[in-house]
Amino acid sequence: MAQKYFIHTFGCQQNVADSERLASFYESRGFVRAKKMELTDVLILNTCVVRDRAEEKVYGMIRSLRQRLGLASPRMVVTGCLIGAAARVPDGKMMKRLTTRLPDVEFLPMEDVGFEYVPERAKGKTASIVISNGCNNFCAFCIVPFSRGKEQSRPFQDIMIEAKRVAEDGYEEVLLLGQNVNSYGADVLAKKIKEGEAYELPDGEKVKPVMVKHLNRHRIPTLFPYLLERIASIPGFKKISFLSSNPWDFSDELIDVVARHQNIDRTLHLPIQAGSNEVLKNMNRWYTREEYLALVDRIRTRIPTVRFTTDIIVGFPGETREQFEETIDLVKRVDFDKVFIAWYSPRPGTAATKNMKDNVSIEEKKRRFAELDAVTFKGHGKKM
Ligand code: SF4
Repeated sequence: MAQKYFIHTFGCQQNVADSERLASFYESRGFVRAKKMELTDVLILNTCVVRDRAEEKVYGMIRSLRQRLGLASPRMVVTGCLIGAAARVPDGKMMKRLTTRLPDVEFLPMEDVGFEYVPERAKGKTASIVISNGCNNFCAFCIVPFSRGKEQSRPFQDIMIEAKRVAEDGYEEVLLLGQNVNSYGADVLAKKIKEGEAYELPDGEKVKPVMVKHLNRHRIPTLFPYLLERIASIPGFKKISFLSSNPWDFSDELIDVVARHQNIDRTLHLPIQAGSNEVLKNMNRWYTREEYLALVDRIRTRIPTVRFTTDIIVGFPGETREQFEETIDLVKRVDFDKVFIAWYSPRPGTAATKNMKDNVSIEEKKRRFAELDAVTFKGHGKKM
């Protein structure tokens, strides 16, 4: 009889999409999907480490399942961001914690799964397509460059083939995913800049990569506007969304593509993280509040029906009351449709953990969270 597998996914939509590839990986090895966690031979936990609690939840789930099922416990496999971070955070403490607390669990790096497996997608209207993995930005608070490694864009042609297949399968909506989705292709174009060559798209169009002055620095161009335009032109798609964009990579070309295609989602998620220039600088975010506001204005001028959502961290190391008030002021000015708020917690390996003092008390972080939540709550928001 075929062995059964069950995948439990923690965290973000990219993890959900990764689990669809994991399902395909196991099915290609003869496993069949179990209906319940309690009835499986192999339990795969696709983990998250974005918050402190996320890591604890993995340990807690394994412990309680083993207590409940005793000798009938399934073989356990841990994959995802916890494994990636443990392998890459230089001090090795996370790996030590992992191997000490989970001595008899197998570890499966997502790199070993790769992208060759056609995702076993859940039934529904929307298909997720992962277009890139990892991030090179090293925002001071963020563990993603460790948990997922350097940014790697999938080949343009592979994504187009997957998108066309998804349309043929009858999906009407597609969600393009990447940790820094709109920097898709910057890694490829950076090499072309060095070589002094143009990049040829699968349909023959040549992209001449030139560094452009954008916001306050020179920026590597990306292939995202080209990819988005081609996916939006595939017959059958009624809605194309993308997550998560960095304001830094939100170019005028991208604004034009969104404006030109009515089937691209008019709700744009554009994480600001903080409304104070000093805090943004300390966070290693590469834009100022003025540049962010100007970007919002530019997008609103070209796409009048646009709605914005954002992420904000309150209580980042050193954030003063006045700096927090600048965040309040900014959210009022932009009038976001939804704000995902988190209070700062140190994550292993990050610049904030290594170099900054977590000096805003937990009580004050909670107060700022509640205050911002009250300002931004419109009756349909979701708290992190
Ligand atoms: S751009 Fe996003 S994923 Fe990358 S380091 Fe910053 S917050 Fe993390």
